Amino acid sequence: MAEGKASRCWPGRPVRAEIDLDAIEHNVRAMCRKAAPASVLAVVKANGYGHGAVAVSQAALSAGASSLGVACVDEGIQLRRAGVTAPILVMGFIPPWEAAVVVEHGLTPTATTKQTALALARFSRERGVKTPVHLKVDTGMARLGLTPPEVATFGAYLETMEPLALAGIYTHFASADQPDKSFTREQYAAFRASAESLPASVTRHVANSATLLDIPEMYLDMVRPGISIYGCYPSAHTSRSIELRPVLNLKSQVARIHTLPAGATVGYGRTWRTEKPARIALIPCGYADGIPRGLSNKGAVLVRGRRAPIVGRVCMDQVMVDVTGIPRVTLGDEVVLIGRQGDEHIPVEEVAQLAGTINYEILCALSARVPRVYLRGGRVVSVQTLTGEL
Ligand SMILES: *Cc1c(COP(=O)(O)O)cnc(C)c1O
Repeated sequence: MAEGKASRCWPGRPVRAEIDLDAIEHNVRAMCRKAAPASVLAVVKANGYGHGAVAVSQAALSAGASSLGVACVDEGIQLRRAGVTAPILVMGFIPPWEAAVVVEHGLTPTATTKQTALALARFSRERGVKTPVHLKVDTGMARLGLTPPEVATFGAYLETMEPLALAGIYTHFASADQPDKSFTREQYAAFRASAESLPASVTRHVANSATLLDIPEMYLDMVRPGISIYGCYPSAHTSRSIELRPVLNLKSQVARIHTLPAGATVGYGRTWRTEKPARIALIPCGYADGIPRGLSNKGAVLVRGRRAPIVGRVCMDQVMVDVTGIPRVTLGDEVVLIGRQGDEHIPVEEVAQLAGTINYEILCALSARVPRVYLRGGRVVSVQTLTGEL
């Protein structure tokens, strides 16, 4: 394999998440086309679902997204510090003591309590700025938001606060990714009713990726896709109405190869034992990088275009695989933990299923010490490592 040789001269740590910026742009463009005339808010919380919030934001905005969504204030500040000027909606809870930095960085807050609204108004007045605010309505998730009957009074309350401008109202669906959309329709109806009293100029938005894929009549003024930006479908049940391109490949290299005699054990707890002599390859990444420990004795990696089973427990920083059946495995050979190699493919959904979770969690779990290598036209354009940009 050609990759074998090239991979031996990676700069830095022999672990990398390769992120295809062309694929992100393809996905966002396709979503913008489908959503039009609704605008697209690209959800880049949790470090862009593990892909790197700054790079993803830049790619999404250049592909037609008009704003960004994050979960917490710090995520918004990170984007502002990187020079992002587009509107950034903070979708999570904001305590009153974060109001000052929200205003300072020009973030768009979600206001769900009077205390936070008051603090936002005070700091906006002090700085002489008008702060756009979105309301969140809880229509069935039983998490953040006002109840539908609270919306009218809270909206009126905001109107009394001169420096705040009610710019948007939204809700979030509990089961839009399931085949049965009846609860989603109930949530939608409750949302529409709650927003009825507000001016038409207030941006209404409800659609996550699943809704964008499956329920066009709920696009309203803006859609809020997350997982689909990253080339993944929200569940096995959503339609493939947008052709998404996979974005991420998680790669490493063979760091050691050795032969064990029959009856030897591998790793912590000695959970795997050789029945006959076996060739074991070492991969220098582990659960601290985001490889789920649940893959112990269950998962596989790709080496020389073939599947090598993970043997023994996934360690914090290392994984061992059985390459007995794969000829000519050599030190420095490229290893794929998520993604494609030759004709073989380990989708993130396979990893998630073996680990008892969903694709979202696997992507978000990729830790800061995994270098992010950004590609355009198949070529490396930038590298983000724990110690900075390469
Ligand atoms: C995370 C999130 C989204 C994106 O959801 P996906 O399923 O990833 O498309 C949209 N809206 C809100 C409020 C969210 O928290």
